[in-house]
Amino acid sequence: MTRRTALELLGMSATYTALVPGRAFAQAPAFTKGAIIRTLFKDYAPEDLAGGATLFHEHMSLAPDFMDKFRAASAAVRAMNAGPAGAGAAAGGRGPGGAPPRAGGPPPAATGPDPMRDVELMAEELATAKRDGVACIVDGGHPDMGRDLEFVRQASMKSGLPVVAGAGFYSQPYYPREISTMSESQIVEALIRQADEAPAGAFGEIGSWDEMTADERKVFRAVGKAHVATGLPIFTHTGIPGKAAIEQLDILEDAGVNPNRVTIGHLGNLVDPNVYVHKTICRRGAFVAFDRQGSNGDAQKVPLVMALLEAGFADRLLFSSDASRGYSKTLTVFLPKLKAAGVGDDVLHRIMVDNPRRFLAFVPRRPRKRL
Ligand SMILES: [Zn+2]
Repeated sequence: MTRRTALELLGMSATYTALVPGRAFAQAPAFTKGAIIRTLFKDYAPEDLAGGATLFHEHMSLAPDFMDKFRAASAAVRAMNAGPAGAGAAAGGRGPGGAPPRAGGPPPAATGPDPMRDVELMAEELATAKRDGVACIVDGGHPDMGRDLEFVRQASMKSGLPVVAGAGFYSQPYYPREISTMSESQIVEALIRQADEAPAGAFGEIGSWDEMTADERKVFRAVGKAHVATGLPIFTHTGIPGKAAIEQLDILEDAGVNPNRVTIGHLGNLVDPNVYVHKTICRRGAFVAFDRQGSNGDAQKVPLVMALLEAGFADRLLFSSDASRGYSKTLTVFLPKLKAAGVGDDVLHRIMVDNPRRFLAFVPRRPRKRL
C-alpha cells in the first residue's frame, strides 16, 4: 500500500485537493457555531482540519515504565479471573495457559530506538503520518501515564502536525495515591486545572481496568462534571475486552454528558459477531472506537465493522491505532482491508476525516489560556 493509494482512498489525492480545495462530500458534517478543535498551539475551526484524517487516540509520550505497569496489572487481573484451578475459564476468563487478553494500551515497542525517548525521532514519526494523509492527531496521555507534555509540544512544532492533548486520570493501577481520598469535586477541579494548563482538547483516555472500582466510578463522574464545565469531549479505555463499556457510558450520561460527546474505547477487542454492546452504544448516540488497528488482529475486527456499517452506524465509528509509532497504519494497513471487504471510499472518508472532527469539535465554556 503506497502513500498515494492511501491518500486516494481518502479522496485526497494531492492533485485533487490542490485543484478543489475544501472538496465537499455528500455528507459534509455541519458544526455548531463557535465549535473549535483545541490543539496544543491553537484552536482550529473544524473545517480547517478537513484536509486529512484525524487519529483520535495515539500516544507520543508515556513513562518509561508504562508498559511494565500495564503488563503487571493485566497479569494480576488474569490471575484473579482464572481463580483457583483456573475456575475463571468457565466464566469467560482465560486461564494462565490461554491466550492473554489484550486489555489495552499501546502495543509493545518494536525493536530499535524508541521515538518516545527522542524528540527528533518522534517528530519524524509525526511528519511521516502527515505525509500519509493525517491532518491531526490526539495524544491520549496525561500526567498519571507519565506523558511529558513539553516533549509532545516539541514534536508537534518540529513536525508541523497539529496535536490535541488529552487530560485526565487513566485507571486504578495508574492513579496517583491521593485519588482515593480526594472528593469528587476536588477531582473535578484537578481535571479542569489540567485541561486549562495543557491546554487540552479532550478528556482521555479515561479508563477502567476490569470490574470498575469505586475510585474509577468516582473519576468517571468527575470527568462527566468537568466536561459539563469545559465542553471537552471524552474518550475512554475499556479493559478485558470491552468490559464496563456500558457502565462507563451510564456514569457519564448520569453526570450530565450528552452521549454524542463520548467515545467508548477499545471495542475492536470485543469480538462479538452480533455486536450487541457496540450497537447499544451507537443507538445511545456515543461513538464506538476501533483503536487498535494495523496488525493481524484486524481479521476479526473487519466483520465487526461491517456489521455496524450494515446496521447504519457509519457516523458512530472512530478508528485509530493507539500506537506509539507508525501512526498511519490505520490508514495504510486497516483501511485497505475494509475496502477489500467492500466499504466505499466515501464511507471511509467519513469515518477517518469527518467523524473525529465531529467528536472533537466543541464550543469552549472556558477561555483558552494565554501564553
Ligand atoms: Zn491508549
